[in-house]
Amino acid sequence: MSELPPCDAFIDGRWVAGSRRFTVRDPFDDAPIAEVTDGDDAHVDAAVAAAARAFPAWKRRPGPERGKLLGQLAARMLSAERRLAELCTRENGKPVTEAIAEVRYAASFLAWFAGEAERSYGETVPATHPTQRLTVIREPVGPCALITPWNFPYAMLTRKLGAALAAGCTVVAKPAEKTPLSALALAQLAETVGIPAGVINIVPSADGARIGGRLCGAPAIRKISFTGSTAVGMILMKNAAADLKRISLELGGNAPFLVLADADLDAAVAGALVAKFRNTGQSCVAANRFIVEAPIAEAFTAKLCAAAARLTVGRGSDPDVDLGPLIDDAGVAKVVRLVADAIARGAKLLLGTPPSGTTRLIAPIVLAGVTPQMQLWREEIFGPVIALRTAADEAEAIAQANDTEYGLVAYVFTRDGARQQRVAEALEAGMVGINEGLVSTAQAPFGGVKHSGLGREGSRHGIDDYTNLKYLATRIA
Ligand code: ADP
Repeated sequence: MSELPPCDAFIDGRWVAGSRRFTVRDPFDDAPIAEVTDGDDAHVDAAVAAAARAFPAWKRRPGPERGKLLGQLAARMLSAERRLAELCTRENGKPVTEAIAEVRYAASFLAWFAGEAERSYGETVPATHPTQRLTVIREPVGPCALITPWNFPYAMLTRKLGAALAAGCTVVAKPAEKTPLSALALAQLAETVGIPAGVINIVPSADGARIGGRLCGAPAIRKISFTGSTAVGMILMKNAAADLKRISLELGGNAPFLVLADADLDAAVAGALVAKFRNTGQSCVAANRFIVEAPIAEAFTAKLCAAAARLTVGRGSDPDVDLGPLIDDAGVAKVVRLVADAIARGAKLLLGTPPSGTTRLIAPIVLAGVTPQMQLWREEIFGPVIALRTAADEAEAIAQANDTEYGLVAYVFTRDGARQQRVAEALEAGMVGINEGLVSTAQAPFGGVKHSGLGREGSRHGIDDYTNLKYLATRIA
């Protein structure tokens, strides 16, 4: 059993208990894991005030020094990876091997932005007048609100936190109510590396809407970074307009996975398993709609079903398990509804059993003959269900892929180089995996178009959302 972090709010370098607590549960069996302080308005206000107080000194700190602390935090995460991973498995349910991969992925954002803190360059601009010098410097936007989901409790936080701290911003983070322990464990590590009090504040709460809303509405908060549902992202953006706060949004997806007639089918199956089943399908970059060119549909489907059938389902702490439980009963109910709707509208069940809703463990399901009228064509499934549709040719495959209001990621499998480029450019998505089922990495810009969000996280662009450009015009004579 992994040891628990302090289960209180982390404000101004102190652990602050509240009068109310809420229970964090293991998604596998609902067993209580911890009683966590249920942050209230006073916690939020204190955390925002602490972030505002800490901001001027943190901003003045040289970038390389901020980077050094981020690098140390990354190293601490890696040396504690087993303990952190086990904690994540307990509250999120994902297999420990996936949780370890998440801890490494999360630490890689801190390490990446440690470097970016040293490279947050300005510019000199050629002036029209010989008597002027024009320079552009970058300044941190100010205290930031970071709101994160439960599916990648470490990585979604560090992807924001690394960029914010590298830029010189201070933060108040509100982790998802189902998975606050991972964020609290990270705060505990941050304390040990000497990140100053008030730079990182964490307010857990059972009432995400209320506390997240209060945090984002606080006047001292100058930027909001949110990862979660499109519906909530739209509310936050509307509210942010009232105070002209900067906002970046990483929202839902409905990723198409195209397998074209000339694809290497074994590579496509391997890519499909990663793109579909990571975190039991509960990922915004999960392949949601498989679009297969007609000539290879039968062969690809047979190989995919055979591979998916080998995946095992169970408790994430069991080393042999590939798929953990879904996060909660609402997640299960959604999968039950989407599968039942698809079958009622004529989809063919090729693998698995329609879930009954009595367990959170769902073995892989493959449905063929999916049509755009089915709910799972429009909605993010967030579960281990493969929905297959055939396309007559490349043009039809692209049209089907773009038939969604979302645009986070798309995957395409083809051996033809020109086709790779042509199709990737035609797909309406912020990211494209070409013969690749896993695109996320700290060095590359992660983000979407259309209803999948605004802004980019990670990469050299990730720091932009946390900085303002300031232009200085200097008369030298
Ligand atoms: P999911 O369906 O993945 O749980 P949500 O968008 O509901 O996605 O939640 C993502 C994060 O946003 C969580 O931390 C949650 O507590 C928070 N949240 C939910 N509703 C609001 C809201 N109205 N304002 C601010 N944050 C919210």
